[in-house]
Amino acid sequence: AINNLSAWMKDEHVEKNLVVQLDSAFVRKDPYGVALIIGPWNYPIHLLLVPMIGAIAAGNCVIIKPSEISKYSEALIAEMLPNYLDKDCFAVVTAGVEETTKLLENKFDYIFFTGNPRVGKIIMKAAATHLTPVTLELGGKNPCYVADQCDLQNAANRIVWGRFFNAGQSCIAPDYVLCTLETQEKLLPVLRRAINDFYGAEPKESPDYGRIINDKQFERLRALMNGGRVAIGGQTDAKERYIAPTVLVDVSTSAPIMQEEIFGPILPIVTVANLEEAIDFINARERPLSLYAFSCDNKVIHQLLDRTSSGGFCGNDTLMHVALVSLPFGGIGNSGMGKYHGKFSFDTFSHHRASLLRNAGLEAINRVRYPPYSDQKMALQH
Ligand code: NAD
Repeated sequence: AINNLSAWMKDEHVEKNLVVQLDSAFVRKDPYGVALIIGPWNYPIHLLLVPMIGAIAAGNCVIIKPSEISKYSEALIAEMLPNYLDKDCFAVVTAGVEETTKLLENKFDYIFFTGNPRVGKIIMKAAATHLTPVTLELGGKNPCYVADQCDLQNAANRIVWGRFFNAGQSCIAPDYVLCTLETQEKLLPVLRRAINDFYGAEPKESPDYGRIINDKQFERLRALMNGGRVAIGGQTDAKERYIAPTVLVDVSTSAPIMQEEIFGPILPIVTVANLEEAIDFINARERPLSLYAFSCDNKVIHQLLDRTSSGGFCGNDTLMHVALVSLPFGGIGNSGMGKYHGKFSFDTFSHHRASLLRNAGLEAINRVRYPPYSDQKMALQH
């Protein structure tokens, strides 16, 4: 952001019409004022500081509100941030739901929220009281279509990485796989191999495999497993809040696991008859934050891209579109509104102020638009 700041901040000169030929017309990037940034508990530092960089770059003062659930990160941020940033302009507020409700009664100039869609609605309602603009970075169920013609081991590696990274607690993780029954049968052994390659025969012992954030989430996830038959994994340990990398088959689409965002290390496979049915399945549901499609045939990838809607899209991989800062990151519909990353962050936290600096003279030309509107003037205008 520092390296690009002078280019981002520059007034953007725009095309002019005949009337303003001698004037200066441009878009000025003004800060909004004070931005409130509310973060979730997964990636509790990244998801506060990355938007904050955009807000600071755009010239705003910032209040950040970490999640009270990831309490060690919350304490660390509250302790460290004032050591590095001007206390008059940048503040950390530690707050649970009750205090955040109070905090939201204040008038902010911008609110940037990352969290679940239910809370997103609460934030938007509070913002509406003051007509405060919002960005809502929400979650949902990210479909992952796997075509019959596909390098299945590569697909399995990339799906396993995306699903089980951070023990599945990623907003952009592939939430469920959509494929034919035939592909499912070929996919299961390669998914098993990928899990074994990455985390070993005992993922519980792997230093690269995470745990569930708290008991409430652990119990929620354990209950979700009842929505299908365990094909891989399924082991749990409540003491450690450990859930093995798990793949479910024979999943009922009316079970809670197919109704709510999983946000844990469980991957259900839903079988469909063909690509058409997969597209219908996706389009019958809320628009996801990310959509994934695996196929060796580019036409299939494009079918998915062209005929569905989602915040972001990644063909033949998972999560990787988010690592590219030249792409905007954000949801659509139930998965959110607004976008950030790279220059998009700067633009999100900037008011694009229309600016026209006119020449103070040349009044003879301007008289044409002033009353009285004589026939002679009207004729001139045509
Ligand atoms: P959450 O919505 O419960 O909490 C997010 C923040 O909102 C926290 O700081 C919390 O203190 C606050 N909050 C919670 N309830 C509130 C209320 N009633 N009033 C005011 N503030 C309230 O979300 P979470 O459980 O921390 O995070 C998981 C969710 O976030 C998932 O849905 C996930 O998909 C989503 N998420 C989205 C992104 C993204 O970039 N789109 C990234 C990470 C997580």
